[in-house]
Amino acid sequence: MDKNVLLEYPNAETGDHVTEKYLSFLSNEYKSDLNKMLFATSLCSDDVNVSTDFRRVLKRPFTMGGLGGVPFSGFTGMVAFAHHIPDDGDAFIFYGPHIGITEAGELGRMRRQGQSHETNSCGALMLALARLRDQTESPFATEDPMFDYQQMRLEEMLKPYREEILDADNPIKKTTDVMYDLIHKKIHKLAGMAKSEFSCERLFVLGGVIINTAPEIPDYVDVRNFEVFTIANMQEEKPVSILKTEAFKNL
Ligand SMILES: [Zn+2]
Repeated sequence: MDKNVLLEYPNAETGDHVTEKYLSFLSNEYKSDLNKMLFATSLCSDDVNVSTDFRRVLKRPFTMGGLGGVPFSGFTGMVAFAHHIPDDGDAFIFYGPHIGITEAGELGRMRRQGQSHETNSCGALMLALARLRDQTESPFATEDPMFDYQQMRLEEMLKPYREEILDADNPIKKTTDVMYDLIHKKIHKLAGMAKSEFSCERLFVLGGVIINTAPEIPDYVDVRNFEVFTIANMQEEKPVSILKTEAFKNL
């Protein structure tokens, strides 16, 4: 186990472990047929986000995420996802931001595959944080926003939390936590908005912060939420977090 990771995220588990744990939970506890499950992600575009390997088992991921892990595919994307679920199947969305950690334990940086130097991770979130600090914006804001649309939206989403982030003990960690909450709320809102479009009965959602380590060390995930929605009840009642269920504790 990586001490630096656990120092910052005591509940984090390796990506492999998270993959196995939740797939077996879906399959054994919820009797979900993984061959009929449609998988979607709302993760950052960054090539580093292969820490979990749900794709090994769950084919054809629907990609909702853009920079920072924000579900930029929006309502249209959620509806399309809802329409693509196999007959008698279930839906599963994995979402969250990512954060690098160096061998020295510094957050927001990492050494990537094939490189000897360190770079930012999440690069988009670290750029947003730098601009929050300096109160600057993308040079495309006044030119053609389409050239940097996602980054600009990401920065707008974080602006209301500027003080909270800059006053935090670790603004890098805080930016990532704030982004997790924003993604979490958006996924729930979008799923609720697309409720009538789901032909399946259940939607599973798994959210967390992905922690990117050096290539020799496995990546980690700090799981923050795991829920099952019964589609028919989605707007009427709050889904129960199954993280707290007895079955989950006994895994
Ligand atoms: Zn990123």
